[in-house]
Amino acid sequence: LNLGLDALRSLPCETTDGHRMPLWVNTGLFADIARAQERGAEGVGLYRSEVPFMTNERFPSEKEQVAIYRDQLKAFHPLPVTMRTLDIGGDKALSYFPIKEDNPFLGWRGIRVTLDHPEIFLVQARAMLKASEGLNNLRILLPMISGLPELEEAQRLLHRAWSEVREEGVDVPMPPVGVMIEIPAAVFQTRELARQVDFLSVGSNDLTQYLLAVDRNNPRVANLYDYLHPSILHALKRVVSDAHHVGKPVSICGEMAGDPAAAMLLMAMGFDSLSMNATNLPKVKWLLRQVSLQQASELLDLVMTLDHAPLIHSTLQLHLRNLG
Ligand code: PEP
Ligand code: MG
Repeated sequence: LNLGLDALRSLPCETTDGHRMPLWVNTGLFADIARAQERGAEGVGLYRSEVPFMTNERFPSEKEQVAIYRDQLKAFHPLPVTMRTLDIGGDKALSYFPIKEDNPFLGWRGIRVTLDHPEIFLVQARAMLKASEGLNNLRILLPMISGLPELEEAQRLLHRAWSEVREEGVDVPMPPVGVMIEIPAAVFQTRELARQVDFLSVGSNDLTQYLLAVDRNNPRVANLYDYLHPSILHALKRVVSDAHHVGKPVSICGEMAGDPAAAMLLMAMGFDSLSMNATNLPKVKWLLRQVSLQQASELLDLVMTLDHAPLIHSTLQLHLRNLG
């Protein structure tokens, strides 16, 4: 980076031919708030609500959750904050709610847990809604959706939480609701899912794990875990075009969005925003400001013809080197 962080912070993420690419951040820890603001994030694309649950000794009460969520919403107001409902299970454990399974990534995780425990879901949804009173920058995101019945059940609970808080006199609108596209089945039902919600967000960490059948945390197969695998790129491209086909915006919030070379491809695919760790935001912004959308699209067209992941990696490297 030959441009200081401070200077970059106030510059828009805009390509040389004037295409605006909103860069959002992923948050969870309280410390993430300040880091995100320092780097000029335009919103929160993923607030991992399980983080405060993981650092606690018991389930936080509704009142405690209201305070935690209000801090987030207030810190970024008026920018939008996308709060994901509790996504535990898999690699995310709560000491006070142990889940023992042989195949945790294929087991009880994300929305599956909270639909089986609607009391957990309802407390959390009510807390998010109450926290947003007077701010109205809340968006709610549902993790690990594998089909329409789960989405419909979650929406029914969200509406119930909404009418409950309104009965208590809390005057909040129903926030925009979105689903994560992170299970392969959801890729092939993007249109059906998108029709029922306000936005989509791709979780490329889990989508890569599930499409390639590679545990995202197992070092032995880490060399096979590759979000630039041609199948992943084809899946992502399809998700964007299907979401847009039904007129819904689609974001991406996995680690891939924070990789500058990958971000260039994602921009060319048409993602409406990229959400990443605050640490990666300046690098991504810097690179996207060096290229035109035209160049990124040409690169994407070329990459989509390559059927070997190593070739995709070397092609991207070569292009990046040419950009300095
Ligand atoms: C993802 O799966 O890409 C994602 C953003 O969520 P998490 O990493 O929390 O599973
Ligand atoms: Mg995930």
